[in-house]
Parts: sequence; structure tokens; C-alpha cells
Amino acid sequence: MVDWVAALSGVSTALTIAKDLRALDKSFDEAALKAQVVALMEQLTDVRIQIIDAREEASIRDQEITQLKADLTFRQTKLVDRGAYRYLANPDGNAEGYPICPQCERKGLFLQLVQDRSKGAGGVVYVCPACKSNYGQRLPYAKPLEA
Ligand SMILES: [Zn+2]
Repeated sequence: MVDWVAALSGVSTALTIAKDLRALDKSFDEAALKAQVVALMEQLTDVRIQIIDAREEASIRDQEITQLKADLTFRQTKLVDRGAYRYLANPDGNAEGYPICPQCERKGLFLQLVQDRSKGAGGVVYVCPACKSNYGQRLPYAKPLEA
């Protein structure tokens, strides 16, 4: 995270040094002049680094915003709420199939729950293929609406 207070303080310090340089008269010691110029360059270098960091942070934030917009568009156009669950929409925009995993949806994954038949016919449960959350033995299946 860019420290904006420090960045602005660095700019203020650089401006102060520049003003001091402008106010110099000819009797000013050359060594002191060079020291002031070096201090000015160091301040400007620090500010430059902070601006580069800020640009990178802004770029990352822009990518996150783009992803969030895509997720929002997907949720609005490809998901349908029905009862306590959320489903993938079929081409007609209706819920179809098993619900998606609510846990994974929060992370931007839209995965339909599947049957786990590993415990035999009496122990079939619905689970998420990714996070393995168990949603029990009964799960509402959304049938496409009849035309
Ligand atoms: Zn999941």
C-alpha cells in the first residue's frame, strides 16, 4: 500500500530544497550547493518510487474491478435463484440442474453440486467437486420449464 502521506511529504521536501536553491546567492559554497542538489535528487527518487508503486497498485485494482464486473455480469445473466439455492441458467434463462456450491460462489467459482456415490446406494450425498462441502442426501433439482 502506497504511503500517500510520505509521498506528499517527499514532494514538499523536494520543493523546499528547490526553493532554497533558487534563493542562493553567488557567495554560496559550491560544496553546499552540490549537497543540496544531491538531497533534491534523493527526494525526487523516493517520490518516483512511490509513484511507480502507486501505478502498480492501481493496475492490480483495475484488474480486480474488471474481474468483479465480469463476475457480476455472470451472476446477473447466468445464475438463477430458486428456493434456498442458486442455479446455472439454461439458454432460456431458467434454472436447470443441481444448485451451485454457495461456498465456492463467494470465491467466484460457479460449480454445480454432484452426487457422491462412494458410500453405496443408501449413502448417496451431494457434494461440491471443489471444496468437498457436503449438502446432504436431498437436494432440489431444477427441471427446465415446459414450454
Ligand atoms: Zn464448493
